Amino acid sequence: MRATYLFIACCLAIAGIAIGQQPPQKNPYVEKIVKEISAKNIQTNVEKLVSFGTRHTLSDTLSDTRGIGAARRWIKSEFDRYAKSSNGRLVVEFHESTVPPSQRIPTPSKVVNVLATLKPAQEGLSAGRTIIVSGHYDSRAGSPMDVKSDAPGADDDASGVALVLELARVMSSYEFEARIIFAAFAGEEQGLLGATALAEWAKLQSVNVEAVFNNDMVGSTVDGNGTKENRSVRLFSEAFSPLDTGAVFRQRVSLGLENDGGSRTLARYIKELGEQYNPGFGIQLIYRLDRFLRGGDHRPFHERGFRAVRFCEVKENYDRQHQDVRKENDKEYGDLPKFVDYEYCAQVAKVNAAGIATLARAPQPPAKVEVLTSQLANDTGLRWQKNPEKDLAGYLVRYRATSSPVWENALFTSDTTLTIKMSKDDFLFGVQAVDREGNAGLVTLPRPSGRQ
Ligand SMILES: [Zn+2]
Repeated sequence: MRATYLFIACCLAIAGIAIGQQPPQKNPYVEKIVKEISAKNIQTNVEKLVSFGTRHTLSDTLSDTRGIGAARRWIKSEFDRYAKSSNGRLVVEFHESTVPPSQRIPTPSKVVNVLATLKPAQEGLSAGRTIIVSGHYDSRAGSPMDVKSDAPGADDDASGVALVLELARVMSSYEFEARIIFAAFAGEEQGLLGATALAEWAKLQSVNVEAVFNNDMVGSTVDGNGTKENRSVRLFSEAFSPLDTGAVFRQRVSLGLENDGGSRTLARYIKELGEQYNPGFGIQLIYRLDRFLRGGDHRPFHERGFRAVRFCEVKENYDRQHQDVRKENDKEYGDLPKFVDYEYCAQVAKVNAAGIATLARAPQPPAKVEVLTSQLANDTGLRWQKNPEKDLAGYLVRYRATSSPVWENALFTSDTTLTIKMSKDDFLFGVQAVDREGNAGLVTLPRPSGRQ
């Protein structure tokens, strides 16, 4: 839930604030997108993906009915179908890379992602901003090297790919200011290979990847103990990137920003929007890159300094993950579609939709945000650079107690400076740009003025 805005008239704590046109707190355009997400379509997509028998990265590529080749051609054909209502803006492609032998790759092998890129409605507005939403379409049986046995992978991760497809279907007839890449990755189970190839491409091309929303296992609501949770999802993020070493690390800790790295900032942003646009469904922030003994496709992006997070169900069932399909003592093993809760998956899709649609329509994060520290003062002074977007309404200055996981308050101003009668020692502050529809972009944390 976004914190209530405070007006100067009712808040004596603010000085020097220039009130402009206050934007609305919810955007009907985003609400419409969220509403269109269909659990039925997600179910159809999962069942179709499972019908290919196995989607192991090294499985058959020639058959039209079985193996990873048939699966990726079907995913592409779905994206192509949605492209028809995109007015030429959704561009679909296979993104291929050849990977060298590694622990789970015996010989040099081709790894093929399926990408659908939704271009901004008007070029030039987006400053090259790119948002990636992903799932992995490869699957595995009990042995990671078994390319023949059935590996239905309904939850892991047909659920994530089905969600990505549904988002592409809905969002490709809407318009955005940032580019959105809908990605179905391969090679996840063999070592995050497809995602690593795309992350490496983004780094080499200096792509302005603003956010990666990775969805891996978003359909199970009952765990191995039989306990159920279908009203919330976990969102994994790591506070520091492996690039935050040495002096960078020390400076961030000295400023009290140990909980405000890029990926964590993104997670906080998604939680706020998801719970605002899809009320009654919670987002649990997990302060970890991933679960123990497991990994995910957000990792190669996070490791290269991009903001990247992973959605994952709350209730995992290990009798279904990475298992050969079989029955033992009346117990069923295997990742079968009948165990997926499609209504739950649709809830996670709606959270993704709220975050992606808002971010892709919102202004970019404000630049050069500074907290004034030239002298000791009881007030907090902030300043930042003006945003270039034509539909800009102003800025939300956010603040929270240093120990709070989420932003607690927002002050609106159309100016580029703000003085708040509160101590900078006791709170964390941030600034986000907001447009006239009420779309607020990512929060920029300030640096002390006069320091790098
Ligand atoms: Zn997975």
